[in-house]
Amino acid sequence: MSSNVQPGGVPVLVLREGSNRSRGREAQHSNIMAAKIVAESVKSALGPKGMDKMLVDGFGDVTITSDGRTILDEMDIQHPAAKMLVEVAKTQDNEAGDGTTSAVVIAGELLSRAEELVDKSIHPTVIIDGYKKAAEKALSTLEKIAIKVDLKKHDYLRKAAITSMASKLVAEHKEYLADIAVKAMLEVAEKDGVSWKVDVEDVKVEKKTGESLRETSLVNGIVLDKEIVHSGMAKRVEKAKIALLDTSLEIEKTEYDAKLSIETPDQIEAFLSQEESMLKDMAEKIIQAGANVVICQKGIDDLAQHFLAGKGIIAIRRAKKSDMEKLAKATGGNIVTKLDDITSADLGYAALVEERKIGDDKLTFIEGCKNPKAVTILIRGGTQRITAEAERSLHDALCVIRDIIHEPYVVAGGSAPEIEMSNALRKYAATLPGRESLAVKVFAETLETIAVILAESAGLQSIDVLSELRARHEKGELWAGIDVLEGKIQNMSKIGVFEPLTVKKQIIKSATEAATLILKIDDVIAAGKMKAPPMPPGGGAPGGGYPGMGEY
Ligand code: ADP
Ligand code: MG
Repeated sequence: MSSNVQPGGVPVLVLREGSNRSRGREAQHSNIMAAKIVAESVKSALGPKGMDKMLVDGFGDVTITSDGRTILDEMDIQHPAAKMLVEVAKTQDNEAGDGTTSAVVIAGELLSRAEELVDKSIHPTVIIDGYKKAAEKALSTLEKIAIKVDLKKHDYLRKAAITSMASKLVAEHKEYLADIAVKAMLEVAEKDGVSWKVDVEDVKVEKKTGESLRETSLVNGIVLDKEIVHSGMAKRVEKAKIALLDTSLEIEKTEYDAKLSIETPDQIEAFLSQEESMLKDMAEKIIQAGANVVICQKGIDDLAQHFLAGKGIIAIRRAKKSDMEKLAKATGGNIVTKLDDITSADLGYAALVEERKIGDDKLTFIEGCKNPKAVTILIRGGTQRITAEAERSLHDALCVIRDIIHEPYVVAGGSAPEIEMSNALRKYAATLPGRESLAVKVFAETLETIAVILAESAGLQSIDVLSELRARHEKGELWAGIDVLEGKIQNMSKIGVFEPLTVKKQIIKSATEAATLILKIDDVIAAGKMKAPPMPPGGGAPGGGYPGMGEY
C-alpha cells in the first residue's frame, strides 16, 4: 500500500514497510465505527438506572463503576479514532467534572448519523458546518432556559450534587454525601470581587476502608494517611508549630561504593559518632527554629527520630508532595528544602496535631489550621471498591458545586434541556438551505438519544415517551423530562433534578468538537510497528503503530 509503481517499473517507497494506510470512505467508515463502539460501551451506564461496569485490568484488579471517564480509562483502547473519544471524556471531566457519559454518547451518535448523511452523498464539510451551527444554536438555547442561582441559598448546590450522584453506586447515600460536599466547597470558596472562586483541589479527600459510607465525615483541616514515626513521641500536640521539610533527615548515602577500612575500635567509635553528630545537628536546627511538629516529605533516620522525640517533637515522614503543598497553604508554613535555612518564620500553625486510629490504621489529623480554608473529606465504606467509587462520585459532586459557584446557573435534568434544544434546532433547520438543514436536523435527533436512553433504562417505550416529550415542550412545558426513578414524565424542576449549565454546555462543546474532528479525517496513516528498541513511555513517536487498525 505504501508504494507506487513509476513508469519505469521501479516502486517508490514513501512509507516504512509495515505501515498501514486507509483513505477516503474506508478511513471514515473505520473511524466512525470505532467511535461508535466506544460510545456504545458507555451508553448503558447513563442515568440513575444505568448499569455499572466491572472492569478488570492487566493485573486482575477489579474496578466497579458507572463513571464514563473511568470506564474508558480502564479500557485498553487502541484505535486512533476511538482514542479521540476517550479524549472527549477527559476534556469533559477536566472542564466540567460531570457529564462524561453524555458527551461520549452524543459524540458517537453525531458520528454515526453523519455516516448516514455521507451515504446520501452529503460532503463531510457540509455536515461539519451544519453541526457547528447546530451546536451554536443549542448553546444559546441552553443559556436562554437556564435558571439563575442565588449562591446565598444552598438549595440548588445541594440538589445538583445529589443529581450528580444519583447515577452512582453510592446513590443510596447521595443526600448525606451531597451535604458534606456542599459544606466542604463553601468552606474553601473565596470571594473574588463580585463573584466567587473555588478549587476542587482545596478539598482533600482521604479514604479508609471500614464502617460504612454513613460514617464519612468532613474534617476541618488536613488528614494525612500517615502515623507518627516514633513510639516515644506524643500522639497529640496542641498549638502546633509545624516544620514542613522537603529534605531528608538522614545521612546521604554516596552514589559509589566506598571502601572504609576501620582497624581499631576507636575508629568505629569516631565514625559512628560523626554520623550521630550530623544527625544531631539536623535535629538541632529544627529545635532552634522552635518547631514542635515535623512533617517530612523524605525519610527520617532512627537516630534523628530519637533526638526529636527527646525534645518533645513529633514527626511524620514520607508525606506526599501534594499533601505538603496543601499543608503549606493550610498552615501558612513554607516548605523548607535546606535545613540550614530554616527559621521560625517558616513554621506553619495548627491548633491541634493528633494521631487517631481509624479502622486498622493510624491517621494524623491537622486541625484548626491558620488558614481555615482547608478541609478534608474522610470517606469510610465497607470495602475498598466502595470507597474508591465513593471518591469518584464525590469528585463529580464537588465539580458540579464548583461549576455552579463559578457560573451560577442550572438547568433541570432528565433530558428536559435536550428536548428543548432539539425542538429549537428543528425550527432552526427549517430556516436553512437543504443540505445544511439536514445536518442540523440530525443534530436535533442526536440530542434526543439522551431521552431515549433514559426512557429505556426506566423500562418505558422510548418512541411514545419521545413524542409526548416533544409535544409537551412544544406547549411550553420547559422542564418536562423523564423521571427514571418513578418511571414517568414529570416536571423535573419540581422534583429537584438540577444540573449545572456549565456541564450541559460543555457536553455540546466537547461532543461537537470531537465529532467534527473525526469527520474531517479522510486519510489514516499509521507507521509500522518498530521492532526494537521498545517505545519510550508516553512517546507517541513514529513507529508506534496502531494494532487493531481497521479491525473492530
Ligand atoms: P454523565 O456521565 O453524563 O453525567 P450520568 O450517569 O451521571 O452520566 O447521568 C446523567 C444523566 O442522568 C443526566 O442527563 C441527568 O439529567 C440524568 N438524571 C439524573 N438524575 C435523574 C433523575 N432522578 N431522573 C431522571 N434523570 C436523571
Ligand atoms: Mg453524571
